[in-house]
Amino acid sequence: MNLSVSGHSPSKTDLELEIERLYEKMKILHWTKEDCELIAPLTWEINHLKKEKDAVILAHSYQLPQIIFGVADYVGDSYSLSRQAMDVQADTIVFCGVEFMAETAKILNPEKRVLLPSLKAGCSLAEGISVEDVKNLRNEYPGVPIACYVNTSAAVKAECDVCVTSSNAIEIIKKLDSDKVIFVPDRHMMKNLGPLTGKDIIGWDAECIVHDQFTGEQVQQLRSENAGIKILAHTECDPSVVLEADYVGGTSGMIKYVRTSNEDSYALITECGLSDRLKVEFPNKTILGSCVLCPYMKAINLENTLEVLRSPQPEQIIEIPLDIASRAKASLKKMFEMTSSPRS
Ligand code: SF4
Repeated sequence: MNLSVSGHSPSKTDLELEIERLYEKMKILHWTKEDCELIAPLTWEINHLKKEKDAVILAHSYQLPQIIFGVADYVGDSYSLSRQAMDVQADTIVFCGVEFMAETAKILNPEKRVLLPSLKAGCSLAEGISVEDVKNLRNEYPGVPIACYVNTSAAVKAECDVCVTSSNAIEIIKKLDSDKVIFVPDRHMMKNLGPLTGKDIIGWDAECIVHDQFTGEQVQQLRSENAGIKILAHTECDPSVVLEADYVGGTSGMIKYVRTSNEDSYALITECGLSDRLKVEFPNKTILGSCVLCPYMKAINLENTLEVLRSPQPEQIIEIPLDIASRAKASLKKMFEMTSSPRS
């Protein structure tokens, strides 16, 4: 791969500094200096091109560590990344996450050029429901508000009344002025939200292929093998997992829990990337991860991030028809209005 199309090649000193910078972060994940040497030319070039092209990289916590610690300007969950996207001043946002997140960034900051490094970065939840499905639910349950999870396409968001994320779903659904609420598309979350909100939740039958893999039995075994461990489960897990957990929420909530509690060890029942991030950020705590990878999130790597910065293909530039963008924005704006904490 040509690493100097921007017209600038890293000097020996540039590369040595970059290797040191990476190693400081990655050694806790058992990366060697030799591992860092292999990626340093790529991270150096990406960081250089970001400045040259006035771009920022927003990365989800499930991204590879070389993205999170090598090139990201901001790392967060769907909610915090969408807030961050609104505030971006740079011309270009490179979204190291999945397609619905890049769409959300474009909807919230339409003047910016939003780039998605891989066309394989979809999501089983977003692909699990269509516009027609939502219209059919609306017809079947007239007058019942429809809350859609942020893990949906822009076109689906445009058909719903309010968008929610794992960090604010309980708060928003409780505030909706109806005892009955349609929540789409995650069937596990739908079952969890009933008891957590006290509402009658009508749902849909899609699931996250990562969180669908965990079982209550696995969590029981984990607890029996690790005395005193705190178990933090994502809201997208099956209710049998949620029942066994000490904390249930989204990734930001899990991070906050680890940051603010005094326990020594935590198990994160979610995608593997979050545990890598927390091992680096909280080196004095023991973090057990799940080793379940999201193939959509992991479709993003340093190579395709560099390529999209250099010369994006038309299909990597996020475009949303104006009518859909404006109606989807109304769902997102309602979410922000109904969420008490401005950042999670
Ligand atoms: S982890 Fe699950 S919800 Fe997140 S992008 Fe992957 S499939 Fe979608």
